[in-house]
Amino acid sequence: MGTSFSAELSKECQDLESSFKEYIKNFREERKIISQETILSIKSRLSRGDIQGAHSIISGILENIDKVPLNVAVTGESGSGKSSLVNSLRGLGHEEEDAAPVGVEETTIERTPYKHPNFPNVTIWDLPGIGTTNFQPKDYLEKVKFGEYDFFIIVSATRFKKNDLDLAKVIKAMKKNFYFVRTKVDFDLQNEQEFKPTTYVREKVIEEIRNKSLKEFQENNIEPQIFLVSNKDLSAFDFPILMDTLLKDLPAQKRHMFTLSLPKITEAAIDRKRDSLQQIVWLEAFKAGVLATFPVVGIIKDNDVEKLKASLHQYQVHFGVDDASLQSLGKDLRVPVEELKAAIKSPYLFDTEQDQTIGEKLLEYLEILSSVAFTPLAAGLYFMKVFYLQFHFLDTVTSDAKVLLKKSYSRNQLTSQ
Ligand code: GDP
Ligand code: MG
Repeated sequence: MGTSFSAELSKECQDLESSFKEYIKNFREERKIISQETILSIKSRLSRGDIQGAHSIISGILENIDKVPLNVAVTGESGSGKSSLVNSLRGLGHEEEDAAPVGVEETTIERTPYKHPNFPNVTIWDLPGIGTTNFQPKDYLEKVKFGEYDFFIIVSATRFKKNDLDLAKVIKAMKKNFYFVRTKVDFDLQNEQEFKPTTYVREKVIEEIRNKSLKEFQENNIEPQIFLVSNKDLSAFDFPILMDTLLKDLPAQKRHMFTLSLPKITEAAIDRKRDSLQQIVWLEAFKAGVLATFPVVGIIKDNDVEKLKASLHQYQVHFGVDDASLQSLGKDLRVPVEELKAAIKSPYLFDTEQDQTIGEKLLEYLEILSSVAFTPLAAGLYFMKVFYLQFHFLDTVTSDAKVLLKKSYSRNQLTSQ
């Protein structure tokens, strides 16, 4: 009896181990939301048959993942576009209610916190430029409490001043990351085009701006990393690359929140959010599966339906596909909400045919899903139906978000012509 039990246990463990490996394999290194160290400790518990141990690590991750604080410092001279960048990072229009006021001169050394409206643990700090303070870099950093930030963004709308470069050196010496952002690139392009209409080449102007800054950095022995940005048009120039780089450099456990908080201005940004949320679904499934001794079969229960509705709504909010977001998008684009809704699928996921129950509808999705090779979860023995459906909903909302992105993009193209 004892032997058969342990044989059973080890089979169970092997299955869990292999499905955990599947999961690990499926997400790119720079997108993982749990650290290599944590992955190793889960693996080692599974290989020792310590299922309870693996379960408690995963529970801990899920409990804490949205409580991790993230603090970003944005600094630069007054007028350089700092406050605008703060809004850009939070995905807020410059006139929205919680937006940082743009075009206002600073007079004090005080830093101003801007909490992300949906993710209160993500705070972007608007710092006065070092030049306005007359402090030496070290004193400046002390004054603005440098230890509290995960990284610094140094902003300029022209060339970077000696002050900025000195600041970067001290930040580096303090073992923190910094990124240079050159704003108002749209403005430079427009200027050049007006002044030199016959010889103007867009790419050339961009390269010139980049090279000038790189040269200044190299002369000062500073890592040549610069991002050209227009706060008026985030998907143009380097803002998408900036988002990628910031996320890649963050410790894995800080990525999830920051990924969700960043604006969804490109398809890649939308996919990144999906990848992050997929990992959460996976971890939840794994957590549930680890302790379930029998595969869950049969019908979908009422509280599962409630859980599914809640996660669908959460995805819709994250991707701007919920009712309130659709209303405001409709207003922006000047199209009726019905027209937006007609182009997407997620609002109708729970609609049933005549005589069909919601349970039957959901089982229908599962039949379709199981007929195609689907996600690493297919490998998991203990995996439950509810999680398959969550994946399906997440995918549906992701493609809806892309449809809406295309719509607003083509609309903006039309209005800017
Ligand atoms: P701060 O003083 O550094 O906080 O700069 P603000 O964000 O208040 O911006 C100063 C001015 O520059 C405002 O009028 C902004 O609208 C404008 N501005 C900021 N970023 C950009 C940009 O990327 N392109 C253009 N054309 N104008 C910008
Ligand atoms: Mg400002």
